Amino acid sequence: MGDARDSLSAATRIVGVMGDPVAHSMSPLIHNTGFRDRGLDWVCVGFPTSKGMAIEAVRGIPALGVRGMSVTMPHKNAVIPALDSLSDDAGLLDAVNCIQVDGGRLVGHNTDGAGFVAALNHDFGLLPQGLDCVVIGAGGAARSVVLALGRGGASSVTIVNRSAPAARVAAELVDVARVGTFADVPDCDLVVNATPLGMVEVGNGTGPQNTPSSPSTTDEMPCDPALLSPGQTVVDLIYQPLRTQWLAAAAARGARTANGTSMLVHQAAIAFELWTGVSAPVSAMSDAVAREVDARSR
Ligand code: NAP
Repeated sequence: MGDARDSLSAATRIVGVMGDPVAHSMSPLIHNTGFRDRGLDWVCVGFPTSKGMAIEAVRGIPALGVRGMSVTMPHKNAVIPALDSLSDDAGLLDAVNCIQVDGGRLVGHNTDGAGFVAALNHDFGLLPQGLDCVVIGAGGAARSVVLALGRGGASSVTIVNRSAPAARVAAELVDVARVGTFADVPDCDLVVNATPLGMVEVGNGTGPQNTPSSPSTTDEMPCDPALLSPGQTVVDLIYQPLRTQWLAAAAARGARTANGTSMLVHQAAIAFELWTGVSAPVSAMSDAVAREVDARSR
């Protein structure tokens, strides 16, 4: 970071991430890696924004000439009334993770689902078209994945969740989605864990960009690995740790596996491109995230 800080000036363009907590968000690392790699005089910083301050914070974006904003917990829904328009995904999900300043107008996007699909393609050369999918979980991340898989032409998207009402709501996102059970897992092509089961225990909320309070992981698994087999693709949206016990067990069963770093980087890459109009250096961003997760786990 030394060279980037040395070059900061009054002309440097500013983007940020707003959330509470925000200090351990990966967004600044990912975007500053991208700015440096692309030689852009831009910087990404954290804006600690208390619950209840989302509207005031968003009004400050154009007022201060800030060029874009990532939005994390607890503001993904709360920012919406302050925006001029929403992308289709953000509107359907009722959640915004990226604000673009477009000619003075504030546009809310949700790049998680597109990031997931881009990661699937990047990691495995796989597209949703024709896939039978099981998504475990029905929260914000699961909903974005369900929507993206359905939009991408998946044959079926089966939602398995602890609470049935949340699963039913998520299943309304796309026609091919339905509520199912773990008995659906063995027959599907793609299994996605979108619950925090197996994540490093966190001290301040369960969001993906929050702070691990200890390096211990839970040994709970989102589903019995005995349900998994070769020929399946298994994605754990968790990236802290890089390899959950469930992911390791899935690999031992012969499934091909990926963790959540690729989705994290690809959703950020989409935001980077919306803000700067420049293609994102995904490899450099991924390397930076992997190094940081590794350092945090020591
Ligand atoms: P969320 O909105 O709080 O949803 C959590 C989901 O997990 C809910 O469906 C919840 O079920 C389920 N769940 C929680 N604890 C459970 C338990 N003990 N047993 C069974 N189910 C449980 O969280 P989120 O934002 O969607 O995040 C979910 C996971 O995805 C987190 O691990 C997060 O780190 C990861 N994530 C990764 C990325 C990425 O870029 N890689 C992006 C976003 C999220 P109920 O409905 O029954 O409460």
